[in-house]
Amino acid sequence: MADTLNLDISDLTPEEVGRVLALVRSMRDESVPHAESTDDSSWAEAASTGWTLDLVLVLREMLRRRGNDVQLEAFNQAIRNGGEISREDIFRIGNYEPKRQLKNWTKPLRTITSELVERGSLPEDAEFPMEADYTEGSGYRQAHLFRVAPEIVKIVKEAMCDDCWKLVDTGTKGRNVPPHARLERVGNFRQFGGSGMVADEQDYHCTACGKDWMHETGNSGMGWVETSH
Ligand SMILES: [Zn+2]
Repeated sequence: MADTLNLDISDLTPEEVGRVLALVRSMRDESVPHAESTDDSSWAEAASTGWTLDLVLVLREMLRRRGNDVQLEAFNQAIRNGGEISREDIFRIGNYEPKRQLKNWTKPLRTITSELVERGSLPEDAEFPMEADYTEGSGYRQAHLFRVAPEIVKIVKEAMCDDCWKLVDTGTKGRNVPPHARLERVGNFRQFGGSGMVADEQDYHCTACGKDWMHETGNSGMGWVETSH
């Protein structure tokens, strides 16, 4: 198979070229093999220990605000996989040196959980949102995968479709992430800005899961913003 492709883009607008590039990028991301993409839907049977969709939102927001972007992305990706994410995927997300250890890597999530318990939002015996799974054996063992609490996977999967879940926490990079196939435009495209600062807006509604979004593009847009959950 050829590994280059020449396209005549002379008839395309810059926006259309951007969409072609975004599509190629997303196909490339999807073709990266995931060692642990074994979603057996066992999360569907999970019993609740106190987590709610609002608390998952708070958890994500706190991770983002504290700069724990790798934990946040790994958490989101694990949920997309049905709950698990491999050590290799985490190293790829974080661009970590091969020698790095993942000791205490879930600490930010544990800290936030304790804070939620302290303020009375979560029961004391609520499950930890993400835990390491260690290889069998004795002595020093390294975590070979991380697992999100099944009840959280269930809450998220029931609240929105996988395509919408891919848009959450994309941050300002989301400006260049095109709407997925099940998103329908709501209302008109709104143009904002001038003097070099542009934040255009378009509202969307997901026909698969009912979620509402606002997509802000332009160099000062916020990307994909959840307007319902
Ligand atoms: Zn959706």
